[in-house]
Formats: sequence, C-alpha cells, structure tokens
Amino acid sequence: MRVALITGITGQDGAYLAKFLLAKGYAVHGMVRRGSTLPFERIADLTDKIELHQGDLLDQMALNRLIETVQPSEVYNLAAQSFVPTSFDQPILTGEVTALGVTRILEAIRTVDTNIRFYQASSSEMFGKVYEEPQRETTPFWPRSPYGVSKMYGHWMTVNYRESYNLFASSGILFNHESPLRGTEFVTRKISYAVARIAQQLQSELRLGNLDAERDWGFAGDYVEAMWLMLQADTPDDYVVATGQKHTVREFCRLAFERVNLDWEKYVVVDERFYRPADVNTLCGDSSKARKELGWEPKVSFEQLVHMMVDEDMKRVRAEIKLAEEQA
Ligand code: NDP
Repeated sequence: MRVALITGITGQDGAYLAKFLLAKGYAVHGMVRRGSTLPFERIADLTDKIELHQGDLLDQMALNRLIETVQPSEVYNLAAQSFVPTSFDQPILTGEVTALGVTRILEAIRTVDTNIRFYQASSSEMFGKVYEEPQRETTPFWPRSPYGVSKMYGHWMTVNYRESYNLFASSGILFNHESPLRGTEFVTRKISYAVARIAQQLQSELRLGNLDAERDWGFAGDYVEAMWLMLQADTPDDYVVATGQKHTVREFCRLAFERVNLDWEKYVVVDERFYRPADVNTLCGDSSKARKELGWEPKVSFEQLVHMMVDEDMKRVRAEIKLAEEQA
C-alpha cells in the first residue's frame, strides 16, 4: 500500500488531497498543529480514514521523527502561512514557516529516506510583478509580498535538493484555486459567504480592496490531481498549474451576486484598508507543460466555480440560521 504524508492537511488543499488519495487506495497520514480548539472542520468526515500526527514546520526534530514513524512513499508539503495580507503583518513568522519550513522537511527527508517523493506547494505569487503573460515555468520571479518571497525560497530549495541530493522533489507553481472549503479571509470566499449572508438579510454590504485585480482562478479539487500526477511522473520537475483564463475581482462579484438575483453594485463598497502595501495586479498562467507531460487539465469552469461556492454558502448560512433559531 502506498503511504502519503500531507502537511497542511487541515487546509483547503489538504482536505481535497486527502480525499483524492484515499480514493486512490493510499494510506493517508496528516501532520496537524496543536491548538486550543480542534481545527479539523474540513476533514471532519475523513478522521476515521486517515491518521493524524502532531507536528509543526517550525520543529525540525518533530519532522524527522514524523518521517521516521510514518515511512511515507510520498510527502505533500502544503503547510504554510498562506495568507498574503498576514505576511505583511507577520513577515518573520511567514519566513520561518513558508520559507524555512520547506528546508526543514527536505532535511528530514534527506536524513531519513532519500527515496521519498516530495511535492512542494509553490505559488503564482512568486511571479508578482509580471515580466510576461501568461506566466510559465521559465518566467522570472518578482514576488511582491513576504509570502511570495518565502514561496520563492521554498521553490528554489526544492530545486536545489533535487539537484544536490538527487531527491525526487517537484514544485507545483499553482495559480489561485478556490472551493467552498476556502478560508473566509480569502477574497473569493469572502465574496461568496457575504453574498449568501446578504441574500438572507444578515448583512447589508461587502467591503473589498482592489476590484481590478485579475487572477487565474481554478477549482481546488482539479488542482490536487495535478499535485499527485507530478509525483507519478518518471522524473521530478516544476510545473505551472492554471486555467489560462483571468478574471477580475469585479467579475467574480458580479457572477456571485447574479447567482442570487442581486445587483453587486448595490452592495460592494471599495475600502482602501484592504489595499496591500505592494499589490499583484494581474496573474494568468500557461499550464501547457503540465497538460502535455502530465495529461492534466482543469474540469470546472470559472462560472461553475463561482456558482458552486455561492450555492454551498447559501446552504451553510441557512444551516447557521436554523441552528441559531433552535438555540434561541
Ligand atoms: P490553507 O491556508 O487553507 O492551509 C494551510 C495549512 O497549513 C493549514 O493546514 C495550516 O494548519 C497549516 N499550517 C500553517 N502553519 C503551519 C505550521 N507552522 N506547521 C504546520 N502546519 C501549518 O492553504 P491552502 O490549502 O489554500 O493551500 C495549500 C498550500 O498551497 C499552501 O502552502 C499555500 O500557500 C499554497 N498555495 C495555495 C494556493 C491557493 O490558491 N489556494 C495557490 C498557490 C499555492 P492550521 O489549520 O493549524 O492553521
């Protein structure tokens, strides 16, 4: 039986990847941080099928012990301080986790078992101020946030351990991918959740930053397949994973409000507090290499994604209202 270890299993991608790997017949292990509350909402329906271990990307010894105990054939490093605005407020922590954390887990693999296949969750935020459009594997990086800079370090360490120690280490440069499991602080989910609350008269406005920011948005469920495909290839490499289509935050808003028959312009308020010190205005990826070499392609369209997120949040908000009524 193939054994996978996922760091960041409690996050959006961790939950989709765990489900995907279970369906492929893997024994799935996940690393989780200790907290005063249980942060396992996204994997609540999987907890009897997977094995969870305490650990942290900040703790080298714990990572070494984890790799020794689990003896994985594949490690997916999805854990990160992943929110760009927080990276401006906490640049040191972001560097410790999102950048150095990658070296720590690579060191654990190098020390314990060099046959382990390693996936690093790199990001389109590494492109930042873009040199060319669409961005591909060879496009130079110019990250515009401590998050982007940290991801770039993690990316190059992955390349470096591949070249230095012959590790099977691949880096997926994933463009934004969303789902009903996305954190509510991220703009797409912030919109879909607010739309559902506004539709239920629980909220009257939605405050957002730069409406002109353009992103290449795909569905997280499609993107975890690309992660897995990278580790099934004959040789390790780096791949851009993207839809190749970009849309503005404004378009996301329009579609999301239309789904519940509302006019977005009546509810959205631009608030400069949500502007970033340095912003990434546009990102759009060219995933031809992943499509050609891995046979990967996205299945869910932008419109389907927006509808899926709004529909799920409508269900969630209705359930929240029902619960509140029962408890009243
Ligand atoms: P999430 O923010 O949803 O999940 C992040 C995960 O990392 C959580 O499980 C979190 O645990 C964990 N984590 C944070 N700090 C630590 C730490 N010190 N030690 C161990 N675990 C930690 O991210 P996504 O699922 O959306 O993304 C997965 C990965 O892909 C991330 O690395 C992200 O940066 C990257 N990425 C994501 C993109 C996207 O559009 N979603 C695009 C490109 C890259 P906890 O629950 O305890 O907080």
